[in-house]
Amino acid sequence: METKVKINRSELSLVEGDITNEETDAIVNAANTRLMGGAGVDGAIHRAGGPSIMEECRKIGGCPIGQAVITTGGNLKARYVIHTVGPIYKDGNRGEAKLLKSAHLESLKLASARGLKSISFPAISTGVYGYPLGEAAGIALKTAIDYLKEHTDIELIRFVLFGDKAYNAFLEELKAIID
Ligand code: ADP
Repeated sequence: METKVKINRSELSLVEGDITNEETDAIVNAANTRLMGGAGVDGAIHRAGGPSIMEECRKIGGCPIGQAVITTGGNLKARYVIHTVGPIYKDGNRGEAKLLKSAHLESLKLASARGLKSISFPAISTGVYGYPLGEAAGIALKTAIDYLKEHTDIELIRFVLFGDKAYNAFLEELKAIID
């Protein structure tokens, strides 16, 4: 399943799949503040990319919530992994939305600063971190769309959604935003 829309001069697409197979310049990892790997997409990226990514993470040392750092992609097809840390969702009144937006924006800024043209995001914070899928999808998509409206350097943003529930949540939010 795939949905593509044109925003300004760039493309934004939703795909159902495994982000470790992506061939964009960078893939984004939903990391934790210690950059220590873990379950979910983080574990999958380190397994597929090999130990060199963790070695670089160890040297970087950590990443605050809402910020992003970059490593090479190890054995992945993507040349880089941008590790960002989304918020743990509690009740929605603890700055979660702002931090989730920041995680996306800082990842895009980092990609841009490195001259990258394409980037793939997973549904950050919607797994173990418990962010309600529809709300997270709205924030992720709005941030990406606003970025593409204001900048033309990144040519492709893909949201790679694991399973049809996540894909459909993103599709519904995308329709609501662009209609
Ligand atoms: P967080 O701690 O930020 O919630 P998780 O890894 O637990 O991170 O979940 C984030 C999202 O990533 C979830 O929607 C989960 O289904 C999804 N996910 C897990 N594995 C993959 C993968 N290989 N590719 C893309 N998305 C994945």
